[in-house]
Amino acid sequence: MDTQAPLSGNRPDLSHHWMPFTANRDFHLEPKMLCRAEGCYYYGERGQQILDGCSGLFTTPAGHGRTEIADAVRDQLLTLDYAPSFTRGHPQSFRLASRIAALTPESMDRIFFGNSGSEAVETALKIALAYHRARGEGGRDLFVSRERAYHGVNFGGVALSGMVPNRRAFGPAGPRVVHMRHTFLEQNRGTIGQPMYGAELADDLERLVALHGAENIAACVVEPIAGSTGVLVPPQGYLERLRELCTRHGILLIFDEVITGFGRLGHNYAAQAFGVVPDIITMAKAITNGAQPMAAVAVSREIHDTIVDKAPDGQVEFFHGYTFSAHPASCAASLAALDIYRDEGLFDRARQASAYFLDRIEALQDLALVTDVRGYGMLAGVDLAPSERPGLCGHIVQKRLFDAGLHLKTTGDAAIIAPAFVMETGQIDTLVDTLRDVLTELAD
Ligand code: PMP
Repeated sequence: MDTQAPLSGNRPDLSHHWMPFTANRDFHLEPKMLCRAEGCYYYGERGQQILDGCSGLFTTPAGHGRTEIADAVRDQLLTLDYAPSFTRGHPQSFRLASRIAALTPESMDRIFFGNSGSEAVETALKIALAYHRARGEGGRDLFVSRERAYHGVNFGGVALSGMVPNRRAFGPAGPRVVHMRHTFLEQNRGTIGQPMYGAELADDLERLVALHGAENIAACVVEPIAGSTGVLVPPQGYLERLRELCTRHGILLIFDEVITGFGRLGHNYAAQAFGVVPDIITMAKAITNGAQPMAAVAVSREIHDTIVDKAPDGQVEFFHGYTFSAHPASCAASLAALDIYRDEGLFDRARQASAYFLDRIEALQDLALVTDVRGYGMLAGVDLAPSERPGLCGHIVQKRLFDAGLHLKTTGDAAIIAPAFVMETGQIDTLVDTLRDVLTELAD
Protein backbone atom coordinates (compact mmCIF):
# COMPACT_ATOMS: atom_id res chain seq x y z
CA MET A 1 0.00 0.00 0.00
CA ASP A 2 1.39 3.40 -0.98
CA THR A 3 1.38 5.34 2.26
CA GLN A 4 2.28 8.52 0.38
CA ALA A 5 -0.92 8.43 -1.65
CA PRO A 6 -3.25 11.40 -1.15
CA LEU A 7 -5.81 11.22 1.64
CA SER A 8 -9.13 9.78 0.61
CA GLY A 9 -11.09 12.61 2.23
CA ASN A 10 -10.36 15.93 3.85
CA ARG A 11 -8.66 15.52 7.19
CA PRO A 12 -10.66 17.35 9.88
CA ASP A 13 -9.17 20.05 12.07
CA LEU A 14 -7.22 18.16 14.74
CA SER A 15 -6.74 20.98 17.20
CA HIS A 16 -9.88 20.68 19.34
CA HIS A 17 -10.10 17.06 20.37
CA TRP A 18 -7.82 16.47 23.38
CA MET A 19 -7.22 12.76 23.01
CA PRO A 20 -7.18 10.43 26.03
CA PHE A 21 -4.05 8.47 26.97
CA THR A 22 -2.28 9.93 23.95
CA ALA A 23 0.90 11.94 23.42
CA ASN A 24 -1.18 14.64 21.73
CA ARG A 25 1.66 16.76 20.33
CA ASP A 26 3.27 13.67 18.91
CA PHE A 27 -0.04 12.52 17.43
CA HIS A 28 -0.48 15.84 15.65
CA LEU A 29 2.92 15.42 13.99
CA GLU A 30 2.05 11.96 12.70
CA PRO A 31 -1.70 11.32 13.05
CA LYS A 32 -2.57 7.64 13.06
CA MET A 33 -6.17 7.70 11.94
CA LEU A 34 -8.56 4.79 11.63
CA CYS A 35 -11.38 5.48 9.20
CA ARG A 36 -13.10 2.16 8.62
CA ALA A 37 -13.12 -1.36 10.01
CA GLU A 38 -14.19 -4.75 8.79
CA GLY A 39 -13.42 -8.23 10.11
CA CYS A 40 -9.91 -8.20 11.57
CA TYR A 41 -8.83 -5.09 9.71
CA TYR A 42 -8.86 -1.37 10.16
CA TYR A 43 -8.40 0.95 7.20
CA GLY A 44 -6.46 4.18 7.49
CA GLU A 45 -6.82 7.55 5.81
CA ARG A 46 -5.25 6.37 2.58
CA GLY A 47 -7.31 3.24 2.60
CA GLN A 48 -4.29 1.25 3.82
CA GLN A 49 -5.13 -2.01 5.56
CA ILE A 50 -4.10 -2.36 9.20
CA LEU A 51 -4.41 -5.74 10.89
CA ASP A 52 -6.09 -5.36 14.27
CA GLY A 53 -3.91 -7.31 16.66
CA CYS A 54 -5.65 -6.08 19.79
CA SER A 55 -9.35 -6.54 18.92
CA GLY A 56 -9.60 -2.74 19.09
CA LEU A 57 -8.87 -2.39 22.79
CA PHE A 58 -9.85 -5.96 23.76
CA THR A 59 -13.34 -4.94 22.73
CA THR A 60 -14.07 -6.76 19.50
CA PRO A 61 -13.54 -10.53 19.63
CA ALA A 62 -16.11 -11.23 16.89
CA GLY A 63 -14.40 -8.90 14.43
CA HIS A 64 -15.46 -5.47 13.21
CA GLY A 65 -18.51 -4.40 11.29
CA ARG A 66 -20.89 -7.10 12.46
CA THR A 67 -24.15 -6.36 10.70
CA GLU A 68 -26.20 -8.31 13.26
CA ILE A 69 -25.14 -5.83 15.94
CA ALA A 70 -25.58 -2.77 13.74
CA ASP A 71 -29.09 -3.93 12.77
CA ALA A 72 -30.03 -4.62 16.39
CA VAL A 73 -28.87 -1.16 17.47
CA ARG A 74 -30.73 0.53 14.63
CA ASP A 75 -33.93 -1.40 15.36
CA GLN A 76 -33.64 -0.62 19.06
CA LEU A 77 -33.11 3.10 18.49
CA LEU A 78 -36.20 3.22 16.32
CA THR A 79 -38.24 1.23 18.85
CA LEU A 80 -37.09 2.72 22.16
CA ASP A 81 -34.11 5.03 21.85
CA TYR A 82 -33.78 5.94 25.48
CA ALA A 83 -35.50 5.05 28.71
CA PRO A 84 -34.79 6.74 32.03
CA SER A 85 -32.56 4.34 33.86
CA PHE A 86 -33.95 5.08 37.33
CA THR A 87 -37.34 3.80 38.51
CA ARG A 88 -38.39 2.83 34.96
CA GLY A 89 -37.41 -0.42 33.30
CA HIS A 90 -37.28 -1.66 29.74
CA PRO A 91 -37.41 -5.29 28.64
CA GLN A 92 -34.02 -5.43 26.94
CA SER A 93 -32.08 -4.78 30.13
CA PHE A 94 -33.80 -7.65 31.93
CA ARG A 95 -33.23 -9.95 28.98
CA LEU A 96 -29.57 -9.00 28.93
CA ALA A 97 -29.11 -9.39 32.69
CA SER A 98 -30.49 -12.94 32.42
CA ARG A 99 -28.15 -13.74 29.55
CA ILE A 100 -25.12 -12.45 31.45
CA ALA A 101 -26.21 -14.25 34.61
CA ALA A 102 -26.21 -17.47 32.58
CA LEU A 103 -22.55 -16.90 31.68
CA THR A 104 -21.19 -15.95 35.11
CA PRO A 105 -20.35 -18.54 37.79
CA GLU A 106 -23.58 -19.99 39.12
CA SER A 107 -23.99 -18.04 42.33
CA MET A 108 -23.25 -14.68 40.72
CA ASP A 109 -26.45 -13.84 38.99
CA ARG A 110 -27.38 -10.27 39.93
CA ILE A 111 -26.24 -7.75 37.34
CA PHE A 112 -25.77 -3.97 37.61
CA PHE A 113 -25.09 -1.98 34.42
CA GLY A 114 -22.79 0.95 33.66
CA ASN A 115 -21.02 2.34 30.61
CA SER A 116 -17.32 1.71 31.01
CA GLY A 117 -14.85 -0.47 32.80
CA SER A 118 -14.01 2.44 35.08
CA GLU A 119 -17.65 2.79 36.06
CA ALA A 120 -17.90 -0.92 36.69
CA VAL A 121 -14.97 -0.69 39.09
CA GLU A 122 -16.47 2.26 41.01
CA THR A 123 -19.76 0.38 41.18
CA ALA A 124 -18.07 -2.75 42.53
CA LEU A 125 -16.27 -0.78 45.25
CA LYS A 126 -19.50 0.90 46.32
CA ILE A 127 -21.34 -2.43 46.37
CA ALA A 128 -18.63 -3.82 48.65
CA LEU A 129 -19.00 -0.87 51.03
CA ALA A 130 -22.80 -1.04 50.95
CA TYR A 131 -22.72 -4.77 51.64
CA HIS A 132 -20.58 -4.47 54.74
CA ARG A 133 -22.63 -1.54 56.01
CA ALA A 134 -25.83 -3.50 55.56
CA ARG A 135 -24.29 -6.28 57.64
CA GLY A 136 -23.35 -3.88 60.41
CA GLU A 137 -19.64 -4.02 59.53
CA GLY A 138 -19.30 -0.46 58.27
CA GLY A 139 -15.73 -0.31 59.60
CA ARG A 140 -14.67 -2.30 56.57
CA ASP A 141 -13.73 0.53 54.22
CA LEU A 142 -10.17 -0.35 53.27
CA PHE A 143 -9.45 -2.00 49.90
CA VAL A 144 -6.59 -4.26 48.99
CA SER A 145 -5.16 -3.95 45.50
CA ARG A 146 -1.87 -4.84 43.88
CA GLU A 147 1.19 -3.23 42.36
CA ARG A 148 0.90 -3.03 38.57
CA ALA A 149 -2.88 -3.09 38.80
CA TYR A 150 -5.04 -1.13 36.37
CA HIS A 151 -8.65 -0.50 37.29
CA GLY A 152 -9.65 2.44 35.14
CA VAL A 153 -9.45 6.17 35.54
CA ASN A 154 -12.06 7.23 38.06
CA PHE A 155 -11.00 8.01 41.59
CA GLY A 156 -11.68 4.59 43.06
CA GLY A 157 -9.80 2.96 40.21
CA VAL A 158 -6.94 5.41 40.46
CA ALA A 159 -6.60 4.72 44.17
CA LEU A 160 -6.48 1.00 43.41
CA SER A 161 -4.00 1.53 40.64
CA GLY A 162 -0.53 0.17 40.98
CA MET A 163 0.73 2.12 37.98
CA VAL A 164 3.34 4.70 38.81
CA PRO A 165 2.28 7.44 36.29
CA ASN A 166 -1.28 7.17 37.55
CA ARG A 167 -0.24 7.62 41.16
CA ARG A 168 2.20 10.44 40.36
CA ALA A 169 -0.42 12.45 38.55
CA PHE A 170 -3.33 12.03 40.91
CA GLY A 171 -1.99 10.58 44.16
CA PRO A 172 -3.87 8.03 46.16
CA ALA A 173 -7.12 10.03 46.03
CA GLY A 174 -10.39 8.29 46.75
CA PRO A 175 -10.89 5.28 49.00
CA ARG A 176 -8.15 3.99 51.26
CA VAL A 177 -6.18 1.29 49.52
CA VAL A 178 -3.21 -0.85 50.44
CA HIS A 179 -1.26 -2.86 47.91
CA MET A 180 0.02 -6.38 47.61
CA ARG A 181 3.03 -7.12 45.43
CA HIS A 182 2.50 -7.84 41.75
CA THR A 183 3.06 -11.34 40.45
CA PHE A 184 5.90 -10.81 38.01
CA LEU A 185 8.85 -12.94 39.08
CA GLU A 186 12.22 -13.37 37.39
CA GLN A 187 12.01 -17.16 37.79
CA ASN A 188 8.92 -17.21 35.61
CA ARG A 189 10.47 -15.43 32.61
CA GLY A 190 9.42 -16.89 29.30
CA THR A 191 6.42 -18.77 30.71
CA ILE A 192 3.36 -19.18 28.57
CA GLY A 193 0.32 -20.21 30.62
CA GLN A 194 0.26 -20.08 34.41
CA PRO A 195 3.75 -19.65 35.87
CA MET A 196 5.01 -22.19 38.40
CA TYR A 197 6.35 -19.82 41.01
CA GLY A 198 4.66 -17.22 43.14
CA ALA A 199 1.50 -18.67 44.73
CA GLU A 200 2.89 -17.48 48.06
CA LEU A 201 2.60 -13.85 46.88
CA ALA A 202 -1.08 -14.18 47.80
CA ASP A 203 0.07 -14.33 51.42
CA ASP A 204 0.65 -10.59 51.14
CA LEU A 205 -3.06 -10.40 51.87
CA GLU A 206 -2.52 -12.24 55.13
CA ARG A 207 0.20 -9.75 56.07
CA LEU A 208 -2.08 -6.83 55.29
CA VAL A 209 -4.81 -8.41 57.39
CA ALA A 210 -2.36 -8.75 60.27
CA LEU A 211 -1.34 -5.10 59.87
CA HIS A 212 -4.71 -3.44 59.29
CA GLY A 213 -7.17 -5.92 60.81
CA ALA A 214 -9.69 -7.95 58.81
CA GLU A 215 -12.48 -5.94 60.44
CA ASN A 216 -11.29 -2.90 58.45
CA ILE A 217 -10.94 -4.51 55.02
CA ALA A 218 -13.86 -4.43 52.58
CA ALA A 219 -12.51 -6.19 49.54
CA CYS A 220 -9.50 -7.46 47.69
CA VAL A 221 -9.56 -6.35 44.05
CA VAL A 222 -7.49 -8.06 41.38
CA GLU A 223 -7.43 -8.49 37.65
CA PRO A 224 -7.16 -12.29 37.35
CA ILE A 225 -4.62 -11.48 34.62
CA ALA A 226 -3.18 -7.99 34.99
CA GLY A 227 -3.81 -6.93 31.40
CA SER A 228 -2.95 -3.29 30.84
CA THR A 229 0.39 -3.54 32.63
CA GLY A 230 1.76 -6.27 30.43
CA VAL A 231 -0.32 -9.46 30.80
CA LEU A 232 0.78 -10.90 34.14
CA VAL A 233 -0.76 -14.36 34.36
CA PRO A 234 -1.44 -15.51 37.94
CA PRO A 235 0.99 -18.14 39.25
CA GLN A 236 -0.47 -21.60 39.80
CA GLY A 237 -2.37 -21.66 43.08
CA TYR A 238 -2.27 -17.88 43.57
CA LEU A 239 -5.93 -17.06 42.95
CA GLU A 240 -7.02 -20.12 44.93
CA ARG A 241 -5.00 -18.87 47.87
CA LEU A 242 -6.47 -15.36 47.61
CA ARG A 243 -9.94 -16.91 47.58
CA GLU A 244 -9.18 -18.93 50.68
CA LEU A 245 -7.82 -15.93 52.58
CA CYS A 246 -10.71 -13.68 51.60
CA THR A 247 -13.23 -16.27 52.75
CA ARG A 248 -11.39 -16.82 56.00
CA HIS A 249 -11.35 -13.09 56.81
CA GLY A 250 -14.78 -12.05 55.50
CA ILE A 251 -13.17 -9.96 52.76
CA LEU A 252 -14.96 -9.78 49.42
CA LEU A 253 -12.96 -10.94 46.42
CA ILE A 254 -13.50 -8.78 43.34
CA PHE A 255 -12.25 -9.94 39.95
CA ASP A 256 -11.87 -7.08 37.51
CA GLU A 257 -12.59 -8.95 34.29
CA VAL A 258 -12.88 -5.93 32.02
CA ILE A 259 -10.32 -7.56 29.72
CA THR A 260 -10.64 -11.22 30.62
CA GLY A 261 -14.44 -11.45 30.46
CA PHE A 262 -16.33 -12.80 27.45
CA GLY A 263 -14.07 -15.57 26.30
CA ARG A 264 -10.66 -13.89 26.15
CA LEU A 265 -9.16 -16.82 28.07
CA GLY A 266 -11.22 -19.45 26.25
CA HIS A 267 -13.89 -19.54 28.95
CA ASN A 268 -16.75 -17.18 29.74
CA TYR A 269 -14.70 -15.50 32.48
CA ALA A 270 -11.30 -15.92 34.06
CA ALA A 271 -13.20 -17.17 37.09
CA GLN A 272 -14.05 -20.28 35.10
CA ALA A 273 -10.72 -20.47 33.30
CA PHE A 274 -8.89 -20.61 36.63
CA GLY A 275 -11.65 -22.33 38.60
CA VAL A 276 -11.88 -19.64 41.28
CA VAL A 277 -15.20 -17.98 42.04
CA PRO A 278 -15.02 -14.40 43.36
CA ASP A 279 -17.87 -12.48 45.00
CA ILE A 280 -18.04 -9.70 42.40
CA ILE A 281 -17.01 -9.58 38.73
CA THR A 282 -16.62 -6.39 36.71
CA MET A 283 -16.86 -6.57 32.92
CA ALA A 284 -17.03 -4.18 29.96
CA LYS A 285 -15.20 -3.97 26.61
CA ALA A 286 -16.36 -7.12 24.75
CA ILE A 287 -19.80 -6.99 26.33
CA THR A 288 -21.09 -5.36 23.10
CA ASN A 289 -18.24 -6.52 20.84
CA GLY A 290 -17.15 -2.90 21.13
CA ALA A 291 -20.14 -1.54 19.26
CA GLN A 292 -21.64 0.49 22.12
CA PRO A 293 -20.23 1.68 25.45
CA MET A 294 -21.38 -0.64 28.19
CA ALA A 295 -20.24 -2.35 31.37
CA ALA A 296 -21.69 -4.62 34.01
CA VAL A 297 -21.02 -5.83 37.50
CA ALA A 298 -22.10 -9.32 38.51
CA VAL A 299 -22.58 -10.01 42.20
CA SER A 300 -23.50 -13.01 44.25
CA ARG A 301 -27.09 -13.38 45.29
CA GLU A 302 -25.99 -13.10 48.89
CA ILE A 303 -24.48 -9.65 48.36
CA HIS A 304 -27.45 -8.43 46.39
CA ASP A 305 -30.00 -9.72 48.87
CA THR A 306 -28.11 -8.35 51.85
CA ILE A 307 -28.20 -4.83 50.40
CA VAL A 308 -31.67 -4.98 48.88
CA ASP A 309 -33.53 -6.84 51.62
CA LYS A 310 -32.19 -4.69 54.44
CA ALA A 311 -33.58 -1.41 53.08
CA PRO A 312 -36.94 -0.06 54.26
CA ASP A 313 -39.90 -0.48 51.88
CA GLY A 314 -39.97 1.99 49.00
CA GLN A 315 -36.47 3.29 49.65
CA VAL A 316 -33.73 3.12 47.02
CA GLU A 317 -31.52 0.33 48.34
CA PHE A 318 -28.33 1.25 46.53
CA PHE A 319 -27.76 4.96 45.98
CA HIS A 320 -25.87 4.63 42.74
CA GLY A 321 -26.44 4.56 38.98
CA TYR A 322 -25.83 6.36 35.70
CA THR A 323 -28.15 8.17 33.31
CA PHE A 324 -27.01 5.74 30.67
CA SER A 325 -27.04 2.58 32.82
CA ALA A 326 -28.51 -0.20 30.66
CA HIS A 327 -29.01 2.10 27.67
CA PRO A 328 -31.44 0.34 25.31
CA ALA A 329 -29.06 0.54 22.33
CA SER A 330 -26.21 -0.89 24.41
CA CYS A 331 -28.45 -3.70 25.65
CA ALA A 332 -29.48 -4.48 22.08
CA ALA A 333 -25.84 -4.45 20.95
CA SER A 334 -24.86 -6.73 23.79
CA LEU A 335 -27.70 -9.19 23.18
CA ALA A 336 -26.69 -9.38 19.51
CA ALA A 337 -23.01 -9.80 20.45
CA LEU A 338 -23.82 -12.59 22.91
CA ASP A 339 -25.86 -14.31 20.18
CA ILE A 340 -22.83 -14.19 17.89
CA TYR A 341 -20.50 -15.50 20.61
CA ARG A 342 -22.90 -18.40 21.28
CA ASP A 343 -23.92 -19.22 17.71
CA GLU A 344 -20.35 -19.15 16.41
CA GLY A 345 -18.94 -20.92 19.48
CA LEU A 346 -16.38 -18.15 19.77
CA PHE A 347 -15.20 -18.82 23.32
CA ASP A 348 -14.37 -22.43 22.37
CA ARG A 349 -12.76 -21.13 19.24
CA ALA A 350 -10.62 -18.78 21.34
CA ARG A 351 -9.52 -21.72 23.46
CA GLN A 352 -8.60 -23.78 20.42
CA ALA A 353 -6.91 -20.93 18.54
CA SER A 354 -4.86 -19.93 21.57
CA ALA A 355 -2.50 -22.92 21.32
CA TYR A 356 -1.29 -21.83 17.89
CA PHE A 357 -1.31 -18.14 18.78
CA LEU A 358 0.71 -18.62 21.96
CA ASP A 359 3.20 -20.95 20.23
CA ARG A 360 3.91 -18.28 17.67
CA ILE A 361 4.25 -15.61 20.36
CA GLU A 362 6.56 -17.80 22.44
CA ALA A 363 8.95 -18.05 19.49
CA LEU A 364 9.54 -14.27 19.64
CA GLN A 365 11.79 -14.90 22.62
CA ASP A 366 14.76 -15.39 20.32
CA LEU A 367 14.70 -11.69 19.35
CA ALA A 368 17.38 -9.43 20.81
CA LEU A 369 14.82 -6.80 21.78
CA VAL A 370 12.49 -9.21 23.60
CA THR A 371 13.12 -9.76 27.30
CA ASP A 372 10.02 -11.79 28.19
CA VAL A 373 6.88 -13.29 26.73
CA ARG A 374 3.74 -14.21 28.65
CA GLY A 375 0.30 -15.29 27.64
CA TYR A 376 -2.90 -17.17 28.29
CA GLY A 377 -5.82 -17.75 25.94
CA MET A 378 -5.99 -15.06 23.29
CA LEU A 379 -3.96 -12.60 25.34
CA ALA A 380 -0.20 -12.14 25.31
CA GLY A 381 2.41 -9.68 26.50
CA VAL A 382 5.88 -9.20 25.04
CA ASP A 383 8.37 -7.20 27.10
CA LEU A 384 10.84 -5.11 25.11
CA ALA A 385 14.26 -4.08 26.29
CA PRO A 386 13.85 -0.47 27.45
CA SER A 387 15.89 2.24 25.73
CA GLU A 388 17.27 5.34 27.49
CA ARG A 389 13.81 6.40 28.74
CA PRO A 390 11.25 3.86 30.02
CA GLY A 391 8.32 3.58 27.64
CA LEU A 392 10.14 5.10 24.66
CA CYS A 393 10.83 1.76 23.01
CA GLY A 394 7.15 0.76 23.36
CA HIS A 395 6.10 4.11 21.92
CA ILE A 396 8.36 3.78 18.90
CA VAL A 397 7.34 0.16 18.32
CA GLN A 398 3.68 1.05 18.45
CA LYS A 399 4.12 3.78 15.81
CA ARG A 400 6.29 1.65 13.54
CA LEU A 401 3.83 -1.21 13.75
CA PHE A 402 1.02 1.02 12.57
CA ASP A 403 3.10 2.09 9.57
CA ALA A 404 3.84 -1.57 8.91
CA GLY A 405 0.09 -2.31 8.91
CA LEU A 406 -0.47 -3.69 12.41
CA HIS A 407 -2.41 -2.22 15.33
CA LEU A 408 -1.21 -3.30 18.78
CA LYS A 409 -1.43 -1.71 22.19
CA THR A 410 1.78 -0.99 24.00
CA THR A 411 2.05 -0.12 27.63
CA GLY A 412 5.40 1.14 28.80
CA ASP A 413 7.85 -1.15 27.07
CA ALA A 414 5.46 -4.08 26.66
CA ALA A 415 3.46 -4.95 23.56
CA ILE A 416 0.04 -6.40 24.27
CA ILE A 417 -1.54 -8.71 21.76
CA ALA A 418 -5.16 -9.77 21.85
CA PRO A 419 -6.46 -11.01 18.50
CA ALA A 420 -10.12 -11.37 17.67
CA PHE A 421 -11.35 -14.91 18.23
CA VAL A 422 -12.34 -15.03 14.55
CA MET A 423 -8.78 -14.39 13.38
CA GLU A 424 -7.57 -16.96 10.84
CA THR A 425 -4.28 -18.78 11.25
CA GLY A 426 -2.82 -16.89 8.30
CA GLN A 427 -3.71 -13.58 9.93
CA ILE A 428 -2.08 -14.68 13.19
CA ASP A 429 1.02 -15.48 11.13
CA THR A 430 0.95 -12.00 9.58
CA LEU A 431 0.51 -10.44 13.01
CA VAL A 432 3.47 -12.23 14.56
CA ASP A 433 5.66 -11.87 11.46
CA THR A 434 5.03 -8.12 11.29
CA LEU A 435 5.88 -7.76 14.97
CA ARG A 436 9.02 -9.87 14.44
CA ASP A 437 10.10 -7.80 11.42
CA VAL A 438 9.61 -4.47 13.20
CA LEU A 439 11.43 -5.65 16.34
CA THR A 440 14.29 -7.07 14.28
CA GLU A 441 14.63 -3.88 12.27
CA LEU A 442 14.62 -1.77 15.44
CA ALA A 443 17.25 -3.92 17.12
CA ASP A 444 19.47 -3.48 14.03
N1 PMP B 1 -10.35 -2.41 34.53
C1 PMP B 1 -9.51 -3.10 33.74
C2 PMP B 1 -8.96 -4.39 34.19
C3 PMP B 1 -9.18 -2.59 32.48
O1 PMP B 1 -8.34 -3.28 31.70
C4 PMP B 1 -9.73 -1.37 32.07
C5 PMP B 1 -9.42 -0.79 30.70
N2 PMP B 1 -8.34 -1.24 30.06
C6 PMP B 1 -10.59 -0.70 32.93
C7 PMP B 1 -10.88 -1.24 34.16
C8 PMP B 1 -11.20 0.62 32.55
O2 PMP B 1 -12.09 0.46 31.52
P1 PMP B 1 -12.60 1.74 30.70
O3 PMP B 1 -11.44 2.23 29.91
O4 PMP B 1 -13.71 1.17 29.85
O5 PMP B 1 -13.10 2.73 31.68
